[in-house]
Amino acid sequence: MGSKGLIVQKYGGSSVANVERIRNVARRIASYRKKGYDLVVVVSALGDTTDELIDLAHAINPDPSPREMDMLMATGEQASSALLTMALHRLGIKAVALTGPQSGIYTDGDYTRAKIVNIIPKRIHQEIARGNVVIVAGFQGLSPEGDIATLGRGGSDLTAVALAHALKADLCEIFTDVDGIFTADPRIVKSARKLDVITYDEMLELASLGAQVMQARSIEVAKKFSVPLIVRSSLNNKPGTLITEEVEGMEGAVVRGVSLDKSQAKVTISGVPDRPGIAASIFKEISKAGINVDVIVQNVSSEGKTDISFTVNKADLRKTLEVLEKVRRKIKADKVTADEDICRVSIVGVGMRNHPGVAATMFEVLAKNKINIEMISTSEISISCIVKARYGAKAVNALHSAFGLGKKRKKSA
Ligand code: ASP
Ligand code: MG
Repeated sequence: MGSKGLIVQKYGGSSVANVERIRNVARRIASYRKKGYDLVVVVSALGDTTDELIDLAHAINPDPSPREMDMLMATGEQASSALLTMALHRLGIKAVALTGPQSGIYTDGDYTRAKIVNIIPKRIHQEIARGNVVIVAGFQGLSPEGDIATLGRGGSDLTAVALAHALKADLCEIFTDVDGIFTADPRIVKSARKLDVITYDEMLELASLGAQVMQARSIEVAKKFSVPLIVRSSLNNKPGTLITEEVEGMEGAVVRGVSLDKSQAKVTISGVPDRPGIAASIFKEISKAGINVDVIVQNVSSEGKTDISFTVNKADLRKTLEVLEKVRRKIKADKVTADEDICRVSIVGVGMRNHPGVAATMFEVLAKNKINIEMISTSEISISCIVKARYGAKAVNALHSAFGLGKKRKKSA
């Protein structure tokens, strides 16, 4: 083929939000072609198309069938792939648009959140050999029943990473509307800095902790297969952030970033009889209902009774309360309450593993700012505190500067 290498690129919804931006993406692709790269390009639906389609579905039927939801949602990416291909043709670049199924992406049958089970990229290889840029509709594949299935919100990232692995691409570039991964959300922290490099693990924590730059599952897959990833802007030529394996010397920073997640709500079941098996019976019912639980705290018991609090996604709150009310009656607990007015503030960094006292510093910073901590959870490379929602921004800013993440960093001795 005489190619300089194969690059998989992904352009998010904001990067193809309108005609001008689609043309802009086409020009970028053309410049890569000129340099001699083969390209497979994954696109998301234009702008907020997916949200609009979901709203439309719910206006017609509040409980739409998942299979038909996927029929509907997959059209968004089909449209953007065709439009981008047309823009390339206009620039005289050979290109072809393919749906997920045409690209050989096979999924399980779990509609609206299907997993990729296999990729057979025969057609993609054929099109590359014909000299085409291959534009793949993201977020979708073919279910075992032969139907179209979507990969969960943000699933185009997964399409791109999985294709990069299947095609043994030299690089996977994720184009978005920000310059890369930041030490904190620049809308909240003025002095937030773009990171040049971050590890898969840190990125995973940030994605699932609410930094929302990439779909968490896509980063798991990238880590599993060591797919070299770059997150960068489609609106300029800045180099972005490299997401990679941990290499020596990356530990310079103890904390790599601070994140804020407002998507959680706290529920408490109080007056729970304190005996073995109670927690199991509560969380078994919750998990049976398909609800993901995050931070869990069980209070010290008094007089044989205790309180258990945990957080769930706000979207799952109603269902959680229904399930808990049933459990409460069964185990004869006193009451179930909910608090939506919370947020989770987290610090993340692989350097934490070898630096004692990071948690203490975090708690001290919050205390100094008179922010009460309601719950705490930790992983090997992150510490999260649940605090009142109104303190979220203040907490993130205070932690960002306390851990020296701001722009004007003092040179360490
Ligand atoms: N369009 C889909 C969504 O908004 C998939 C994606 O953007 O990656 O979730
Ligand atoms: Mg989208």
